[in-house]
Amino acid sequence: MTYQNYSLKQLQQIDAAHHLHPFTDHKELRAAGSRVITHARGPYIYDSEGFELLDGMAGLWCVNVGYGREELAEAAYEQMKELPYYNSFFKCSTPTPVLLAKKLAEIAPPSVNQVFFGSSGSEANDTALRLVRHYWALEGKPEKNRIISRRNAYHGSTVAGTSLGGMEAMHKQLGGAVPNIVHVMMPYAYELALPGESDHEFGLRAARAVEEAILEAGADKVAAFIGEPIMGAGGVKIPPMSYWPEVERICRKYDVLLMLDEVITGYGRTGEWFAAQTFEVTPDTMTTAKALTSGYQPLSALLVGDRIAATLTEKGGEFAHGYTYSGHPVACAVALKNLEIIEREGLVERVKTDTGPYFAQALRERVAGHGLVGETRSVGLMGAIEIVKDKATRERFEGDGRAAVVVRDHAIENGVMMRATGDTMILSPPLIWTRETIDLACERIVRALDLAEADLRRA
Ligand SMILES: *Cc1c(COP(=O)(O)O)cnc(C)c1O
Repeated sequence: MTYQNYSLKQLQQIDAAHHLHPFTDHKELRAAGSRVITHARGPYIYDSEGFELLDGMAGLWCVNVGYGREELAEAAYEQMKELPYYNSFFKCSTPTPVLLAKKLAEIAPPSVNQVFFGSSGSEANDTALRLVRHYWALEGKPEKNRIISRRNAYHGSTVAGTSLGGMEAMHKQLGGAVPNIVHVMMPYAYELALPGESDHEFGLRAARAVEEAILEAGADKVAAFIGEPIMGAGGVKIPPMSYWPEVERICRKYDVLLMLDEVITGYGRTGEWFAAQTFEVTPDTMTTAKALTSGYQPLSALLVGDRIAATLTEKGGEFAHGYTYSGHPVACAVALKNLEIIEREGLVERVKTDTGPYFAQALRERVAGHGLVGETRSVGLMGAIEIVKDKATRERFEGDGRAAVVVRDHAIENGVMMRATGDTMILSPPLIWTRETIDLACERIVRALDLAEADLRRA
């Protein structure tokens, strides 16, 4: 690599001059300069100044096996030498996507056995949207094309992903969403439960918002419901256990397909291979990406249930959709090796029985009592910390997310990378975190909360 020949200042200047970043205010970026991450090992990332940070976000929810895995580099290198690329259009195939599809069918719920590959979660959701509409058209019900989603959902950033998602700021800039997508309430008890309403009751009420939307449109007009099992970018919103079974019951009752977006929750994050298993629901489609390769290569897999797959093969006709890089041989080789590592090291089981419960306890016992913290919650290695001005009344500071940014900046300065979304701090570390790593992260987070509290109360 030749970047060592450039100083940080030079890299930042070139970055500002030529590089447009995702979800970034470029005026602010130009003023502040970017943080340049140059290398990483295990659970740590390092910036150009050599500053070491615990990566509390696993990159962007994806580096589940941690950094510096030689085996993944070797898998890519070997595959590139053998066959760097060939497409899977026109009745062609290559070996690695075939073997990966088989592996995914083995670890997915029993009724999910087919896979459509892409290069990103957004692409996979685009595929999912077209596939469910195509399915109903093949079934002779083309007017059954409406999709129900949720406010504040994140389903990616392409036009279809943004339309499926429920992020207001993204919709504002979209200039016209894909038609026939409606959004209902999210299962976010901390802010939306009524006084005296139990978690269980709230979960049922939030699920029944889906039923109301179905009845309003007419069941013969509704193709599917889509949801992240745990809302990720929206703030690690964990639904009560009553929510998903009730959503599934409602979907089955009205013959509405159930689409899960497992782009974050897939591949061990919740302590099962998929959150469908954690919440015991049987989806018709499952969107996955991110940790499928632990981020070492861009790859997504839309897992498709038997019901849709059977109609596709029985009715025939071309599904007029696909990507040049669908089933990319190198990305699939890396995914196979990544899943092998996760299995060999027992990472899913470890999250379920050891680090996941320990993480929850550490948040509860060491973080939740802090004066700035309204609530902590987690499933597996996916957690949230609500930042409030007043613990008892749950009053926020400005309510615009600025308080959480203060906490985040202190967290980074104190050596733990985490993210702020709204007034919620979120964590989604690599699955290689041990009890010791969790201890270290909690120490740093509490220090950051102390410093942030001093700033915020002074202001
Ligand atoms: C990240 C994410 C996506 C989009 O994936 P990209 O690879 O960024 O296109 C979709 N859904 C969820 C739940 C995500 O977290």
